[in-house]
Amino acid sequence: MDQLLWRALPLLVLLISFTLFFYLRDPHKFAEDECSLVPYSHYWISSKRILTSQGFISGSVEINEGKIVSIVEGYGKQGNSAQQVIDYGEAVIMPGLIDVHVHLDEPGRTEWEGFVTGTRAAAAGGVTTVVDMPLNNDPSTVSKETLELKLKAAENKIYVDVGFWGGLVPENALNTSILEGLLDAGVLGLKSFMCPSGINDFPMTTIDHIKEGLSVLAKYRRPLLVHAELQQDSKSHLELEGNHNPLAYKTYLDTRPPSWEEAAIKELVDATKDTRIGGSLEGAHVHIVHLSDASASLDLIKEAKRRGDSISVETCPHYLTFSSEEIPDRDTRYKCSPPIRDALNKEKLWEAILDGHIDLLTSDHSPTVPQLKLLKEGDFLKAWGGISSLQFDLPVTWSYGKKHGLTLEQLSLLWSQKPATLAGLESKGAIAVGNDADIVVWQPEVEFDLNDDYPVFLKHPSLSAYMGRRLSGKVFDTFVRGNLVFKDGKHAPAACGVPILAK
Ligand SMILES: [Zn+2]
Repeated sequence: MDQLLWRALPLLVLLISFTLFFYLRDPHKFAEDECSLVPYSHYWISSKRILTSQGFISGSVEINEGKIVSIVEGYGKQGNSAQQVIDYGEAVIMPGLIDVHVHLDEPGRTEWEGFVTGTRAAAAGGVTTVVDMPLNNDPSTVSKETLELKLKAAENKIYVDVGFWGGLVPENALNTSILEGLLDAGVLGLKSFMCPSGINDFPMTTIDHIKEGLSVLAKYRRPLLVHAELQQDSKSHLELEGNHNPLAYKTYLDTRPPSWEEAAIKELVDATKDTRIGGSLEGAHVHIVHLSDASASLDLIKEAKRRGDSISVETCPHYLTFSSEEIPDRDTRYKCSPPIRDALNKEKLWEAILDGHIDLLTSDHSPTVPQLKLLKEGDFLKAWGGISSLQFDLPVTWSYGKKHGLTLEQLSLLWSQKPATLAGLESKGAIAVGNDADIVVWQPEVEFDLNDDYPVFLKHPSLSAYMGRRLSGKVFDTFVRGNLVFKDGKHAPAACGVPILAK
């Protein structure tokens, strides 16, 4: 045995020397073989359609060590240092999408989604950063300690970059040191509910709690995201449950009328008056999540913006794609809150998108397990509310948006630049020199059927209301900080996304 070892020794020494030689020549190559599907860290990508912060160009983008280091106009005219060029021809090169409203449900409810499947689905959909919500994971992220649990759970599991919102709940709203601990630990802002959240350890906040939260956030200059529905008629839900058919979508729709959104937003815009320059809450910002009502609620937001309040609003592709008239009985995949409203409301939301009154889009990807979605029973009143969609942000927005006249520039503003601003991600959201090389390469003209043969990387593809649709806009490649993390249906072997913490 000893003799065998001695004979193998020269071979072993040779092997180690070779490894060391190649490592010293390019130390990044080793890590990137795992993190990236391209084996180099300095390269160019070129195309006839690159959406830069200055508009569309035909040319090339130089990427080095994860950053965009130069942008050259003129297709095929890369600089002299161009050794490695990935030529995408006619495909569109755009900033990666930033989805700031995602429930990844880990730790605690990984069977609902989890960091691995959620971020792999994001990468496959051209989403290069997600910001994870503080609830549906267990425990909820409402303190420094619970954020640490989440960061631990995310280790070596994220394929794209992930930021975190913290929760504003009555307990920490009345205890500034807990709240400051959470903000100091790096959450990008806070999220609160003006109605029951559906999660026991994430109780709703009153407007007074919200004001407390805003006074702390003003110092940090980070936003408060609010689920704006205020229960108006507590009898109606019980009445409807007793007397109406729970298998009909209309029954659920009637339990959450637009007046709930309007009442909540009325209270909020009263508070946001103080966020104006010189106001007692200057520095704080209120962001209304998943607006569904395009009438009175939207008018209140527009008015608050006009008078200079620090306020913004998002809506989601499902409110822009589906309408209540089309939702089949028993099909609980479409249940979310606030609910999807009628076709007229949908058209008004599109108008607000095109006019710039709605600032940005998010998925509100909020899956669960099939048993809680009650797909078999079809009971709209008892089923989990939440739509599963993270992988389809780009093709869904484009498929329905182009019919309404949405341009690629507008799409990118809604999905990259504005979300980056909200979350304070200064080096993301645009193809510009100095920014992270977070990029999606896709072909808006290519159509595909989202059927069972389509590679969906979510944990429960069958829960998504988008399955069965024909969509335009196929994602080919996704880069996160220069790593090619997804290419032609395949992911890089290792999860090299980075947690993003505010400083
Ligand atoms: Zn949500």
